[in-house]
Amino acid sequence: MPTTPKPATPTVVSQQQAVLNSLPFSDTQDFEDANRGLVGRRQPNAVTDAHGTVVWDNDTYSFLDGDAPDTVNPSLWRQSKLNVAEGLFEVVPGIYQVRGMDLSNTSIIEGDEGVIVIDTLLTNETGAAALALYREHRGDRPVKAIVYTHSHADHYGGTKGFISTADVDSGAVKIFAPEGFVEHSIVENVYAGTAMNRRAAYMFGAALARGPQGQVGAGLGQTLSTGEVSFVPPTDIISTTGQEVTVDGVRMIFQMAPGTEAPSELLLYLPDFKALCTAEDATHTLHNTLTLRGAVVRDPHAWAHYLTETIDLFGGDVEVAFASHHWPTWGKERVVRFLQDQRDIYAYLHDQTLRMLNKGLTGPEIAEEIQLPPALENAWNARGYYGSVSHNVKAIYQRYLGWFDGNPAHLWEHTPVERAKRYAKLAGGVDALVTNAREAFDAGDFRWAAEVANHAVFAEPDHAAAREVLADTYEQLGYGAENGTWRDFYLAGAMELRDGQFGTPTETNAPDVIANLTPEMLFDALAIQVNGPEAWDENLSIDVVLTDADTRYRVRLSNGALTYSAAAQEGDADATITGTRSALPALAAGSPDALAAAGLEVTNPSVLGRLVAVLDPGDKNFAIVTP
Ligand SMILES: [Zn+2]
Repeated sequence: MPTTPKPATPTVVSQQQAVLNSLPFSDTQDFEDANRGLVGRRQPNAVTDAHGTVVWDNDTYSFLDGDAPDTVNPSLWRQSKLNVAEGLFEVVPGIYQVRGMDLSNTSIIEGDEGVIVIDTLLTNETGAAALALYREHRGDRPVKAIVYTHSHADHYGGTKGFISTADVDSGAVKIFAPEGFVEHSIVENVYAGTAMNRRAAYMFGAALARGPQGQVGAGLGQTLSTGEVSFVPPTDIISTTGQEVTVDGVRMIFQMAPGTEAPSELLLYLPDFKALCTAEDATHTLHNTLTLRGAVVRDPHAWAHYLTETIDLFGGDVEVAFASHHWPTWGKERVVRFLQDQRDIYAYLHDQTLRMLNKGLTGPEIAEEIQLPPALENAWNARGYYGSVSHNVKAIYQRYLGWFDGNPAHLWEHTPVERAKRYAKLAGGVDALVTNAREAFDAGDFRWAAEVANHAVFAEPDHAAAREVLADTYEQLGYGAENGTWRDFYLAGAMELRDGQFGTPTETNAPDVIANLTPEMLFDALAIQVNGPEAWDENLSIDVVLTDADTRYRVRLSNGALTYSAAAQEGDADATITGTRSALPALAAGSPDALAAAGLEVTNPSVLGRLVAVLDPGDKNFAIVTP
């Protein structure tokens, strides 16, 4: 039986009131824009998979109505009310968007006979439902092309809901993607995928109950759908800004934006519609320089630079901007101001962080010290619903200076558990820590209560009162958070402390992704699973011969490290695996049966067995708020 959530404390209630008094809630332009052009809705909204399991249901957010309750930051409440507006919308005649059917949007451009789809949502089920909603209102037009704007799964995972791989193989459907798309989409989901997916479960609050005391939205969209993620590789790679492509009579001009919100990303302009697709580089939130699920730190300097280029290239002509999240912005003047605000917030955070770090301030100090110009503070699209000023500036510090803040006290700290034990001793025991944490909680100093109670839980994980005060504290921090992902992180932490671990509800390292690993990526994926100490004494080599690619790799395990080379090698390997490139992903399963089923021949299978024996895959259920 899940524990009942608790009400907001007076501290949080007055904090919510202060937000109401300080932000321009009377500006309701976003509500007009989010509902403009509605063509039709899917009702009821629930989308199910082949087994009848619900993978998306926007109706569960119907509580998002009226004024914010005490348990939700009014600014986040406002953003969630905007994000739940769902349906098929006309952006301009010939351009449609399905919004509120997943975390992301799909945009559909009508050509001479068919349509071009920009981004395909996260899972096949929501993708198919979105296409069906479009066709219900606009007719049974065939999909002629798909554009992936960038290498994140919520923009390509639903592709098999729109088309089949046979459509691509026959040449009937072209798929365009920015240079580096395949490498980055796979690398991000596979190398650190287990950890990212477990942390994403916190970030998007997929296991939380929805409601005023639970999940209310993730700022960028409401949450992740939980269907099947597909991966259909692109047929055409876009690599140059200004490159123009016409499909089905629709002209598209591409702008490359690598290293911005994703390592591989593009924007595109549709000159015949005077419409700009900003992908995920200009949306109605301050985005992440480092997402809380974890990633390589993004480059806000490049991000600002590319948005300047967007304005230079298209700002003189554009009449509407739409993106793969949130609602469009209409009118040249408003579009340009929107792009300028978005550009300036990334440039400002970047430059001010560097200015302050050069004065010796550390990440947490910059996060407290930095002030936004009032115009950006009051621009709804620049507020931190997904990224935040606080975590973005720490990420910028990390990008330039790394994890070490230069203070030798932090160079060789004890682990969290060892520190916690020592703090408990210093305080006079775990009970004393708990008393201290409860006092801080009662005084409304939740940040300090979290630090003290966290030491108590890490010193003695089964201490019921320690877990309780920490859960209560995270809950209040969640209620007060303007950022959707902060709220989810705090409430997920409270939930796991109270009710036990919920694991990893959505996984983006799906079979389709594994099937598209290149041989090198596959060897890397195996290498990061090798249990070093167990493999110290192993010394083996395996040749992998790809009959259809005329390639031969020598894979070696020595000193606990798995390495590989495609160059000619001396002597014979201990074993040889022979087969086609497309069969090779069976290696990920490791078992001789899986290899045989895929048609891979193995000499000396015991050598492969020795490799498989030292593989140590990730833990989808690892602890976060307890040791
Ligand atoms: Zn996205």
